[in-house]
Amino acid sequence: MSSHVVILGGGLAGLSCGYELVQRGNRVTILEREPHVGGMASSFVEDGDEYWTQDFGPHRFHSQDKNLIQHVRDILGDNIVTAERLSRIVLFGKFFDYPLVTKNVLKSMPRLLLIKALLDYAWVRFCDKTRLRRYDEKTFEGWVTRRFGKTLYKIFFGQYTEKAWGMSPSLISSDWASQRITVLGLWDTIKKTLRRPKAGETPRTLVKSFIYPKYGGIGELARGYARRIEESGTGSQVLTNAPAVKIHRDGMRVTGIEYGKHERQRIEADAYVNTIPVTALAAALAPKAPDEVLKAARSLEYVSIVFVYLKLNRPSVSPDSWVYLPEKHLTVHRISEFKNFSPFCAPRDKTLICAEITCRRGDEIWRASADELRAIAARDLASVGLIQESDVIDAQIRKIPFAYPVYDLDYRSHLEPVMDYVGRLQNLQTTGRQGNYRYNNMDQSVEMGRKLGQELATGVQTGHAAVATGKEYFG
Ligand SMILES: Cc1cc2nc3c(=O)[nH]c(=O)nc-3n(C[C@H](O)[C@H](O)[C@H](O)COP(=O)(O)OP(=O)(O)OC[C@H]3O[C@@H](n4cnc5c(N)ncnc54)[C@H](O)[C@@H]3O)c2cc1C
Repeated sequence: MSSHVVILGGGLAGLSCGYELVQRGNRVTILEREPHVGGMASSFVEDGDEYWTQDFGPHRFHSQDKNLIQHVRDILGDNIVTAERLSRIVLFGKFFDYPLVTKNVLKSMPRLLLIKALLDYAWVRFCDKTRLRRYDEKTFEGWVTRRFGKTLYKIFFGQYTEKAWGMSPSLISSDWASQRITVLGLWDTIKKTLRRPKAGETPRTLVKSFIYPKYGGIGELARGYARRIEESGTGSQVLTNAPAVKIHRDGMRVTGIEYGKHERQRIEADAYVNTIPVTALAAALAPKAPDEVLKAARSLEYVSIVFVYLKLNRPSVSPDSWVYLPEKHLTVHRISEFKNFSPFCAPRDKTLICAEITCRRGDEIWRASADELRAIAARDLASVGLIQESDVIDAQIRKIPFAYPVYDLDYRSHLEPVMDYVGRLQNLQTTGRQGNYRYNNMDQSVEMGRKLGQELATGVQTGHAAVATGKEYFG
């Protein structure tokens, strides 16, 4: 029996869920707060005298699942290029491959520091073997130090993490490290450098080539879904500029969603899917969720990102898809160059760099003017020799408030009551990166959304909730 499903959020999780539902004859209404679909995987296109595209930082779609890659190919049609991934770290004025490669570390690291790093690593291994010292595996700092030694931790992981999160790595949960760092330690890095990977073994962060839209940026995937949903003949709609404001309920049953920027409207459905931040969902319930749930939701924080797009009067900056800038004296922590994703992303004789600066909503960086942010980004990139400040011909600023969930040492104790309460809503399911407060990638949001859509349409369990909880999903 076909039904009507309202989906909160028009990012990849919400759209892929809607796509699967309409494929099976259901009607969906997607409510998206922004004027465009795509969420964090959105793109912005300038199509005047010159053609430019901007993503929110680097967006490389990758998956070990051939069926998922084929699905994405189907959505993008023939608007596809294959890009080669190169990502490096700039330190001491030199480029280091990322993920770390032993040969490159040995060649480019200052000699004295290298000796210190190797001695530190030997000391950590000795302490670990003899149980002379225990490293606190609960914190990011302890987890990485135990695997790489103090010096490599500080140089390659600690200062970057502190900059990207705006907090000490000793206060960050090791959940983040175990989910994001592919190699298990320095020894693992050495082994991986020395031997060829077996077939099918390449971890996700080491995958070299990936597919990307030829034109339109990564946002083409979201636009492809939205088009197919609206043209499905099911009467489905993707409504933009349509923030969900209140989630009405009767006991633990959702009865309707109030949405709209200025004029409020109400929509009712047979079932509801949430992909907006689970903290926002909890706060929007009417009648209100219990105080302890609201308090726990307020304790869950997000890192925000300000993106500074610099148009440059030169054909290229580097061959890298993205470059990390961990050094503390720089404000920018990563740059990406979209021409290295698709050569059609910028005019032939010019290029566009996206410089990322993390912050918290309302802080000094969040409030800085466009001119100030342009000056910071241009100065940082010039100081490490990537550009000359005079190369910059224009700059634009974009912001994401809910970019990274903050995995501080207490986050689990705050998240559990929120997920538990929301999980008790009988006719609403929550999924995606925001709906789970989870650090997942695009492929995982798409997979979660698709599986949930299939489950709602067929009534057959798909295990959507387990996507991105297993380690094999991370890298
Ligand atoms: C800087 C950066 C780089 C990344 N790089 C990669 C990469 O290289 N590869 C990769 O696979 N992944 C990458 N990711 C992760 C990827 O972007 C996400 O996993 C994916 O886009 C999440 O999709 P989602 O639908 O789950 O969430 P979102 O994209 O966050 O979608 C949620 C949607 O809900 C909307 N919304 C919020 N509140 C409301 C409301 N009240 N009412 C209605 N709508 C609302 C939002 O506007 C948004 O569209 C990156 C993320 C960031 C931030």
